[in-house]
Amino acid sequence: MSWLDPMEPEQEGTARLSAADAALPPDPRARRAIGIDIGGTKIAAGVVTAEGVIVDRALVPTPMGEERATISAMRAVIEELRERHPTVDAIGVGAAGLVEWPSGRIRWAPHNAYRQLPLRRLLYEATGLPTVVDNDANAAAWAEARHGAGAGSDHMVLLTVGTGIGGGLVLDGHVYRGSSGLGAEVGHMTVDPDGDPCDCGNVGCLEAMASGSALGRAGRRAAEADPGGRLARLAGGPEKVTGELVFQAAQEGDATAVQLFERLGFWLGVGIGSLVTIFDPELVVIGGGLVQTGDLLLKPARASMERYAFGLVHRELPPVVPARLGADAGMVGAASLALRAGG
Ligand SMILES: [Zn+2]
Repeated sequence: MSWLDPMEPEQEGTARLSAADAALPPDPRARRAIGIDIGGTKIAAGVVTAEGVIVDRALVPTPMGEERATISAMRAVIEELRERHPTVDAIGVGAAGLVEWPSGRIRWAPHNAYRQLPLRRLLYEATGLPTVVDNDANAAAWAEARHGAGAGSDHMVLLTVGTGIGGGLVLDGHVYRGSSGLGAEVGHMTVDPDGDPCDCGNVGCLEAMASGSALGRAGRRAAEADPGGRLARLAGGPEKVTGELVFQAAQEGDATAVQLFERLGFWLGVGIGSLVTIFDPELVVIGGGLVQTGDLLLKPARASMERYAFGLVHRELPPVVPARLGADAGMVGAASLALRAGG
């Protein structure tokens, strides 16, 4: 597991079954859904209660390439969980990529070869259960707004800062997806048209300026400029500098690495400032692997949010806080959306 992957959830923030709860027979009236998170390397599934508690889990590797193999892998985890929990009410899937809502058609996915995959229909036909399919970051935002760092908030922005930057918007108590489900791609809003190229083909996206990949790239540039410096020596050569290594050097107090974090946080705050200006959220939640770097990232991000948000002297700015559900957010959110859709 890379440090850029979402961290394991905090015990404190995640509702978990105690040994005493687990010993109780399940309440047959309690509504539960299977939440599924399709990642680049694994398909993580769980049985999730209406309170956001994960009571069981199943995991399979994501098959490479062919869509039929992905569907059978998903059916296998669903069947495994349904055998142990025959009363589940619904299925929710969070998938990376461009996912149409409410049709649940995956137009494009970054880690898979399939295109235009009508996943919602296929899973419904295979299982007979009400199914929803949403973008994984939307599902994660919903989970954090209901069961995580923003529990109970109807106005929340989530940014997941890892290898890339994803995110989701919960506005007026609903996930905001735009007209076709493709909205809320906060990582690809342009923050600097003169900035770095983004993997999406554009230039100066928030992701290109403030993600873990951006940190690694900035670290390599800094090491090339100072081949005898701490970063280059730690890495064994300027071209070998990674975001993780910049973090390590920053923790050791290396001034160059700390400056790189300040720059990263600056750009993140520029993005957050615009989101706050447009949506006026109650709070901004930051998830993804980089949130583990704590105030190295969040302090400069808060400072630049304050600098760029509109109407600073006339308003209270929202807190910028770490996410709580970690790698479980997509699964919990997908299940919660499925239960919600089912009434
Ligand atoms: Zn982009």
